[in-house]
Amino acid sequence: NDEVTPIIGVVDRWVAEKPDDLAVIDGDRHFTWSRFRERIERNAAAQVASGVRPGDRIAFLDKNSVACVETTLAASLTGAANAVINFRLSPAEVAYIINDAQAAIVITGPEFVDTIAAIRDELTTVERVIVSGGPDDEYERWLDCGSESFAAVPFDPDVAFLQLYTSGTTGHPKGAMLTHRSLSAHSRAAVTGFRFTEDSVSMVAMPLFHVGGSSWVLAGMSVGAQTVIVREMVPGAVLDEMVERAVTHAFFVPAVYGFFLADRRLHKRDYSAVRCLGYGGSPMPLPTIRACLEAWPDVDFYQVYGMTEMSGVFSVLTPADHRDVTHPERLVSAGRVLPGNIIKVVDPDGNTLPPNTVGELWTKSQQHMLGYWRNPQATADTLVGEWLRTGDAGHMDPDGYLFISDRVKDMIITGGENVYPVEVERVVIEHEAVADVAVIGVPDDKWGESVKAVVVLNADGAVTEDELIDYCRGRLAGYKIPKTVDFVSALPRNSTGKILKREIRKEYWAGRTLHT
Ligand code: ATP
Ligand code: MG
Repeated sequence: NDEVTPIIGVVDRWVAEKPDDLAVIDGDRHFTWSRFRERIERNAAAQVASGVRPGDRIAFLDKNSVACVETTLAASLTGAANAVINFRLSPAEVAYIINDAQAAIVITGPEFVDTIAAIRDELTTVERVIVSGGPDDEYERWLDCGSESFAAVPFDPDVAFLQLYTSGTTGHPKGAMLTHRSLSAHSRAAVTGFRFTEDSVSMVAMPLFHVGGSSWVLAGMSVGAQTVIVREMVPGAVLDEMVERAVTHAFFVPAVYGFFLADRRLHKRDYSAVRCLGYGGSPMPLPTIRACLEAWPDVDFYQVYGMTEMSGVFSVLTPADHRDVTHPERLVSAGRVLPGNIIKVVDPDGNTLPPNTVGELWTKSQQHMLGYWRNPQATADTLVGEWLRTGDAGHMDPDGYLFISDRVKDMIITGGENVYPVEVERVVIEHEAVADVAVIGVPDDKWGESVKAVVVLNADGAVTEDELIDYCRGRLAGYKIPKTVDFVSALPRNSTGKILKREIRKEYWAGRTLHT
């Protein structure tokens, strides 16, 4: 089990067993296992011919495409790493990441040619930009520029070939370096957790710049499943494609399920092929998951907890847990850790806490990243010996079910009491007039901080500040009840649907410093 093999094995095995079966569908392009493998080989040879050396980063900026997966797997042969960039970022943010990666080559899609042109002067390390897709598909020609006698670098399980940036929810995105070891361990865990099998059809609707996209692909491939790449997440179109392609496995962030539920066509389809719908990445509102279970009575839902630094998913709440009437409280649990993973809940000094006590979550796993690219300080703060400090707070019940409270950084300290905003948000969102809510701490002369709810109302929803505060009485301990409520038209979210609390806090904390 500890024996790590080269990641390319996830393709080679199926090339040997079923070379002419379909491996990847990308829009109207279909690739068999042997064709897909041959393209990876040519990509690797092209990398070398273009001057890419072991340890280098290639920057990839495009919506989802087979070229991204090819570049990642090819990098595993050349000793380089594919640094996949969030295509929803602003040009300035893209420049920050390309420069951080120190990439000499950028592979990009037609939609991003203007973005790159706008920042081209700032990209000091970039020597070549290759456009993938469109009428003049330069990437396809580039695949032919390498030598036929290309030889892979000697295998080292702890070399990174995929560099994914954290979502930047709490600060600048950091480049998590993922390796043969970490991603193989993740694939093993994810296959068990999501019950992937060789006849699965795995839809990649999450962006490939996120672990929910790139690690998900590798997990499905590792068991020989077919991969369906969705170029861009358009909720209605994704549901169409799910049905058309008889998709069995898909993963979406909680915000997307909200869109699905609002799509009236949802109820009129035949989803009988679907065996696994995963969600996670941020807290799922209880009303949303309840509505999903009702709308899709026959579908198996999986809640996952994971992070970029752990190569993807780490714990799973199974379909049986979702429908376990004896433990309704577990509907907000992130389930139990996957095989091979260990989690502990610790106090600020690193001492293990007993069950049902909230503390910081530390993990021990082969899935850990190698470190953050060019950021030794952040790496040292996160990887401590064999443990990874998640920065998340939570607790475990005596049966090992994990409950994520919140990010440690988002915790509110009011009058010496700790309040985890998610707990308050879960109560407020249950009010029928509320569509969305973020709870934050705001400065308070008497209490240090006080609890504030920032609320978005439903289109026809009406509730006053006092009524909402009243609603929380009896549902929350006194010190957790919001002291104030502000109503806004929308909450700032990042591209994977996470609420940006640091943005919301800004206006209330102007000129003052927040506790850390
Ligand atoms: P950054 O690290 O740059 O601030 P980020 O932490 O949002 O961004 P990701 O690695 O994409 O970047 O997200 C991992 C985080 O998402 C976890 O640490 C946790 O806070 C949150 N998360 C993941 N799954 C869940 C879940 N099921 N419930 C609640 N929160 C979750
Ligand atoms: Mg993080």
